[in-house]
Amino acid sequence: MSCVLVTTNNGLYKPKPRIDVLHWRGIGRFLRWRHGRLFGQLLLLFVAIIVVYDGLTGPPFAPENLATNTVWLQYRGFVMLALLLVGNLFCMNCPFTIPRSLARKWSGTGRRWPRTLRNKWVALAVLFVYLFLYEWLDLWASPWLTAWIVVAYFVSSFILEFFFAESPFCKYICPLGTFNYVGSTISPLQIQVTNQEVCRTCVGKECVNGSQDANGKILMLGCGTELFPPQITSNLNCTLCLDCTRACPHDNIGLVKRPWLNELKTARAWPRRWDISLLVWVFTFAGLSNAFGMTPPIYQLAAWLSGRLQTTNEGILLLLIFAMLNLILPFVMGVGTAWGSNRLSRVWEPLRITFSKYTPILVPFAFAVWLAHYGFHFATGAFSIIPATQNFLIDHGIYILGSNPNWLLSNIVPLNWLLPLQLIILIVGFGGSYYVLTEIGRHEKASFVTQLPWLLLLFMLAITAVYLFNLPMEMRGTGLMH
Ligand code: SF4
Ligand code: SF4
Repeated sequence: MSCVLVTTNNGLYKPKPRIDVLHWRGIGRFLRWRHGRLFGQLLLLFVAIIVVYDGLTGPPFAPENLATNTVWLQYRGFVMLALLLVGNLFCMNCPFTIPRSLARKWSGTGRRWPRTLRNKWVALAVLFVYLFLYEWLDLWASPWLTAWIVVAYFVSSFILEFFFAESPFCKYICPLGTFNYVGSTISPLQIQVTNQEVCRTCVGKECVNGSQDANGKILMLGCGTELFPPQITSNLNCTLCLDCTRACPHDNIGLVKRPWLNELKTARAWPRRWDISLLVWVFTFAGLSNAFGMTPPIYQLAAWLSGRLQTTNEGILLLLIFAMLNLILPFVMGVGTAWGSNRLSRVWEPLRITFSKYTPILVPFAFAVWLAHYGFHFATGAFSIIPATQNFLIDHGIYILGSNPNWLLSNIVPLNWLLPLQLIILIVGFGGSYYVLTEIGRHEKASFVTQLPWLLLLFMLAITAVYLFNLPMEMRGTGLMH
């Protein structure tokens, strides 16, 4: 527990207790340790090397290969839990930032990322392409392609950091980071300064500028994504690297507990920009379309489209379906709802403002959809990592985990629990979104009628999700595929 100083109405400062993880005994010290992050990164680098190696040389059947098993089953389950319970732990320990840091060291300061690209449009496009390729190329079933994706990550982060400053790969490109940024807006921890007064009089602003010795040698890195901690209102773009906390000479930054959903109901926590808002809409609709991609109706839709367009090219058909579901539909429904809400309100404001103001209401429900989906895969396949690891070791003459993999190990909960659990997650997510809507409405002094289009939209999304999760889903990449 530490204190944050806040200004009261009469101008005096009074201490307010807050929970700061960086001041917890043991873990806090470890996180503040200069090499604390490197420890986690090296651990994940080791995992990444195994993934690439087994992906390129191991068994071709997805559940038996550590590449597909780790990336598409374990990683996605853990990342959702981490975002929900802690924050952006994957970016904190991301192994792809190791070549990135080397590139930064070798290249010096680097050029500025082009001004026209300093937004989320590229990230949005890359996320779309990534989700499309996942479905089209059945990445979850291909250890070989999975391994090459990991290699591509390392190469891209190195090249971009070599030529540009501002960690453009993390901030503007990486689809995993993009997903995690949006997901982490519901996380219970956030970077926060303890005393704004100290920041006001701080000369070096080392948290963002870093520090150097007299010879220009870098002593401490400042924020790679160029966030300025005294002004942070959101987890968007924060990789939780904690460089700022180590760089601040006044020990004025904490990793602080905040109420769940606080960021989403806080006015102006996010810039009111089209790119950021649309990214959240794509995140939401992609959650539904991704689940849809594992159910029988997608094949019926593809067959119908194939007949209309007179083509059997699976790539074209899928691209059209995904473009419709993940780009056109969210844009039309988002702007349409904002327009409706605008018309029903007595206060006219630009469509962009209405659209951005209410976009945060989507996040709890969207997160619930992804959690229910990735949680499904994790719950049906998490234990398959045991025989896959045994198999990997046996193939290399190591028998410490036995010599007979039990390929029946797979699900971690009884299969008949899955649907009820998914429905509970969806109901909680819907409740969270409804709560954020009412809080935004209260803050904006918006009438019930003004909020009605957003409420209808939430209901439509909820009905769609319940319908989808009631359909039979492919148990991709799990031991149950045997
Ligand atoms: S270096 Fe520390 S004291 Fe200075 S502006 Fe940053 S957070 Fe505030
Ligand atoms: S604000 Fe910047 S330096 Fe601090 S944890 Fe987030 S990304 Fe890292």
